[in-house]
Amino acid sequence: MTEKKKKLTAAALLLAAILAGILGGMRLLEKPEGTAVQISQDGRILYTIDLASAEDQTFDVEYEGSTNTIQIQDGRIRVERAECPDQTCVHMGWLSSAAPIVCLPNRLVIEYAQDQGMDAVVR
Ligand SMILES: [Zn+2]
Repeated sequence: MTEKKKKLTAAALLLAAILAGILGGMRLLEKPEGTAVQISQDGRILYTIDLASAEDQTFDVEYEGSTNTIQIQDGRIRVERAECPDQTCVHMGWLSSAAPIVCLPNRLVIEYAQDQGMDAVVR
């Protein structure tokens, strides 16, 4: 390869990487195809729930004496009540995109389960 061709190749690769980054960012705002959600605490997965088949219910997840009450209704999931100081997780409302519901004080994360394949490679 000539020096010029090498530079062109490098530029093309860079452009491809930038495009992939933009597409990846856009994907984050879309609702994923799947209906499985993961509830994890402190990095450990506590529950994996398929919202398509889950019954309406509420249940508590406790972290060091502080409780998050999680509600599942009509195939959606949210934090209904929380004993955390900031209440950010409650205000986030129903999980509607790939952006997770996070309760920082209680180390709680509710997010759509990533399917394997492409995403596994990207991450
Ligand atoms: Zn919270």
